[in-house]
Amino acid sequence: MTSSSDILNARILVVDDRKGNVELLHGMLSSAGYTSIACTMNPREVCDLHRTNRYDLILLDLMMPGMDGFQVMECLREIESEAGYESGFQVQSQGERTALPVLVITAQPQHKERALQAGAKGFITKPFDRLQMLTHIHDVLEIRQLQKQLQKFAVRSEGVPEEKIFPRETGDLFDQLAGNLPQVFWIWDVHDKTFRYINPEWEKMTGQRVGRGDRLETIFEPVHPEDMERVLREAADLPLGGVDHDYRLLLPDMSIRWVHLRTFPIKDSAGVHRIVGVMDDITQRKQADQQLLQVSHYDALTHLPNRVLFYESLRKVIKQSEMNHRIVSVLFLDIDNFKNINDTLGFALGDELLREFSLRLLECLRVTDIVARIGGDEFGCILVSADDLGNAGLVASKIREALRQPFDLQGHQVTVTASIGISVYPIDSVDADTLVKNGDTAMYRSKTAGRDTYRFFTPEMNVRAIEKLDQENALRKALDRDEFVLHYQPKVDLSGGWVTGMEALLRWKRPEHGVVGPLEFIPALEQTGLITQVGAWVIESVCRQIAEWRHAGIGEIPVSVNVSGRQFSRGTLNQDVIRATQANGIQPALLEFELQTERALRENSIDSDLLELELTESSLMTHAKKTVSILQRLKVLGIQISIDDFGTGYSSLSYVKRFPIDVLKIDRSFIQEITTNSADAAITTAIIDMAHSLHVRVVAEGVETAEQFDFLKGRGCDEVQGFYLSPPLPANEISQLLLSGNRRLKPTLCRPNAGESACSS
Ligand code: C2E
Ligand code: MG
Ligand code: MG
Repeated sequence: MTSSSDILNARILVVDDRKGNVELLHGMLSSAGYTSIACTMNPREVCDLHRTNRYDLILLDLMMPGMDGFQVMECLREIESEAGYESGFQVQSQGERTALPVLVITAQPQHKERALQAGAKGFITKPFDRLQMLTHIHDVLEIRQLQKQLQKFAVRSEGVPEEKIFPRETGDLFDQLAGNLPQVFWIWDVHDKTFRYINPEWEKMTGQRVGRGDRLETIFEPVHPEDMERVLREAADLPLGGVDHDYRLLLPDMSIRWVHLRTFPIKDSAGVHRIVGVMDDITQRKQADQQLLQVSHYDALTHLPNRVLFYESLRKVIKQSEMNHRIVSVLFLDIDNFKNINDTLGFALGDELLREFSLRLLECLRVTDIVARIGGDEFGCILVSADDLGNAGLVASKIREALRQPFDLQGHQVTVTASIGISVYPIDSVDADTLVKNGDTAMYRSKTAGRDTYRFFTPEMNVRAIEKLDQENALRKALDRDEFVLHYQPKVDLSGGWVTGMEALLRWKRPEHGVVGPLEFIPALEQTGLITQVGAWVIESVCRQIAEWRHAGIGEIPVSVNVSGRQFSRGTLNQDVIRATQANGIQPALLEFELQTERALRENSIDSDLLELELTESSLMTHAKKTVSILQRLKVLGIQISIDDFGTGYSSLSYVKRFPIDVLKIDRSFIQEITTNSADAAITTAIIDMAHSLHVRVVAEGVETAEQFDFLKGRGCDEVQGFYLSPPLPANEISQLLLSGNRRLKPTLCRPNAGESACSS
């Protein structure tokens, strides 16, 4: 039997790089009565200390600088093998041979599984729970003491004639020791292949009676059928020395217990004559392992494999396919506009949608395919097929088709689409990471192609993806490096040819790329959210420019500025302003744009009606309600509002009534063929008439020829803008232009139909 003084005198080593933890653990242990506690904050000393002191228990932190807990366990394992024992932490010290328990200190559940594999006996979880920790330590030390005593017994009895051991020992010391062990313990005779002893724990665990004289096979009877073959195969090694393995028992009540069996030989002068077996019930640990595996490999919401398992599976599938020359397709899916659903219906229904979506996906695939949730609204599928390249495309179409049916989310009918990217092993890559990356690239290509579609990866996409990344990185620095400039394009009134104002158009002087036009980088500014800062810079620069022209004696020049819808919906206001505005029921993100605009006007003493904001139809229509209220407030400030590129979007004049619009700009695509295409001519004429009936001014964009100019003049269009009159020019050239003449632009500034470059010469 173990005594509590044996336990309290056990040699314990605490290893943690944090002084606070060491002191805390030391304090808890000594206040519980432990007398022999050593501590170190240096993981590198642990093995040397253990060699000298042979601890009974080591409490080991996992995350330590220089050498982590896993490395320490590795080194402890080496000490064991130096001592001649291969498995587990078995320590030999002057005839004693027992398992050195290591309890791992960790706050991270994902480390537990690895720690168990590395040989840890259990865990002390941070933050420390005093009672739980002390109970755990006590139990571990009690087992350790019992093992030590049994060990001594086994050593003492070596070479002693059998009848002198068992008849005498059974019933007294031996029985007390072995009978009180919390593990199954048995002694088996190598020569007559029967049990010499088996403690009552076996019957308690299995309900099966095994006693002296029974054959070894009897304890294998309850082995789970699926583990039977392996267990019997490994048991064949038993007479040679030791087995050390886990397996399942299937008990009469059909419950399953996991056991760990370790055996070791007892030798006399003639060699091995006894085998001692110790069997632990490790069901709880296995269940914990399973739970850990579940947590670390499966997504809690959809129960699908998570990103970790997706990668592991993909690597495995690729390895198998290397051998049997199969094709593996990786499908990367992203739910389109998922954020909107979350924003409008709330997270609970967003989660519900993800669950339902995952079920639909599963329905579209074969049982052998793998579906995983890779991130928020991103899913991945792995399809294996013999040689059918088209399979992935078919599956993608099937998924799109399956999504046509709306989801019923607690009464809300929601239809979603997905953008899908496909990459194929071994065509696009032979390694998992690149396949996933390529699939992701192809998925983004589906998004930019208008969503609700799929794309196979092509190498050209990679070049584009890298370029895009480079561009984004360069854009992040462009504002600080003063690489943006504004060009100004005059607008002219058709009745007299007078300059009525300018449109400010953004240019990016990108090093090594020359002057880059806005169509090439505005989408990236919008996607990255940089448009907020760049847009603010544009408004500020324009206001400064208006002030400069005034100071230069040129006069008050109205300037229109293009505004992206995203500028209304993103904000980086400081917290004080957000709080203050929310208290007044005002949406801060909207307000930021207004504040910036108002500040720019005020600081440059500009009349607000000199500033005009150009918005496209689509940015007016997204978040229309929100936009109306911002525009109304901007109008109150006196700012002019125009609809840009009219005719390319919804082409409905109805919102001219809803929004406080001053100007309508007819898109260049109508003007281009206005003199040759009767439909374009009719539409343009109708737009001009309707706009006038709503008291809205009309500007025609992209006028390139005298014929177009004359046509528009004949139809009563108010203003024109285009290369025919002037290309967009740097501010100083505009200054010269305006200072030189009477501000009447003659249609001779540029050659008709010659494009922007020819115009600026
Ligand atoms: P937009 O607002 O419709 O601007 C007119 C575009 O037509 C300009 O292209 C201008 O250079 C071009 N253009 C003018 N006259 C003619 C012509 O006679 N023929 C032809 N073929 N083109 C003509 P740009 O400067 O490349 O700007 C393209 C678009 O980029 C703009 O279209 C506008 O939507 C956007 N953009 C420009 N600057 C900004 C900005 O500061 N912020 C935002 N959000 N968007 C901007
Ligand atoms: Mg514009
Ligand atoms: Mg336009």
